[in-house]
Amino acid sequence: MRKPVMAGNWKMYKTPAETCSFFQTFRPLVEAAEHCDIVICPPFVNLAAAVESARGTRIKIGAQNLYWAKEGAFTGEVSGPMILATGAAYVIIGHSERRQYFGETDETVLKRTLAALDAGLIPIVCVGERLEQREAGATETVLCQQCQKGILSLEPARFAKVVIAYEPVWAIGTGKTATPGMAAEAHGIIRREVRNRYGDESAREIRILYGGSVKPENTKALMAQPEIDGVLVGGASLDPVSFASIVNYHS
Ligand code: PEP
Repeated sequence: MRKPVMAGNWKMYKTPAETCSFFQTFRPLVEAAEHCDIVICPPFVNLAAAVESARGTRIKIGAQNLYWAKEGAFTGEVSGPMILATGAAYVIIGHSERRQYFGETDETVLKRTLAALDAGLIPIVCVGERLEQREAGATETVLCQQCQKGILSLEPARFAKVVIAYEPVWAIGTGKTATPGMAAEAHGIIRREVRNRYGDESAREIRILYGGSVKPENTKALMAQPEIDGVLVGGASLDPVSFASIVNYHS
């Protein structure tokens, strides 16, 4: 059985004070949630406040990006060892907003993934097709290409540490959720590629999250799909009550 990962991506929202206030409400609401791993990914400037606020709980903290060099003259960038030193354990890589607005490519996704693994962080690597690619019937080709140029080029021991997030770009922040069936079909394609590259055991163990307008009302149906091993949630993770009900989707 794969343990679900319920992850929140706060994007560019919240200050350190707002982060602390979120955790005050959120912590007791998910105290009993042992069925899943819980991850919150705030902006860099809130990592320390989030780590401190989550201390003594099972909630883990992640960053939303990293740069592949360990240190150097790279103004504005943050490295894996720096993120690890805050007490964070995860990092989102290749989010579609990074691909769309900040020039992220499959090649840079791979570089960042390797840097995250080198630093001892768990990368949550995002893949997903744009609307025009889905409409042109190219979803499978796009997913296979993103996987092959990225995570599937990792050596097996390193690949085992990765979490994959399938995030159809047309569903992110738009209120349009992929139906559970559409999401499961895409997850099946990704898992098949993993099986072809690393074998049955890896395909059974790899966790693939769905992301794209996940809300308390649609989480149960998504999570009922055996292919879906958790969710990566943007907008609905900003409110502690809303994200807690996503975490506690089964109750
Ligand atoms: C995301 O930011 O990864 C995301 C899926 O956003 P939203 O849930 O708001 O669509």
